Amino acid sequence: MKCPRCESYMVHESFEDLRDDTGTLYFFGWRCLGCGEIIDPVILANRRNRPAPIESKTRKRLVFR
Ligand SMILES: [Zn+2]
Repeated sequence: MKCPRCESYMVHESFEDLRDDTGTLYFFGWRCLGCGEIIDPVILANRRNRPAPIESKTRKRLVFR
């Protein structure tokens, strides 16, 4: 598996004590040897189910008075 960010080699590792919304405390994921990117099954599932938000081309300027 290659890192999606820097395309370095990724290793399969176990991670502990990283509680998320599902209450997972122990899981297996991928860690990049190049940039340290970590990909776990939850992240992969989220990326499949939720496409990245598209940034609006026009930005409204907020005026505070
Ligand atoms: Zn990387």
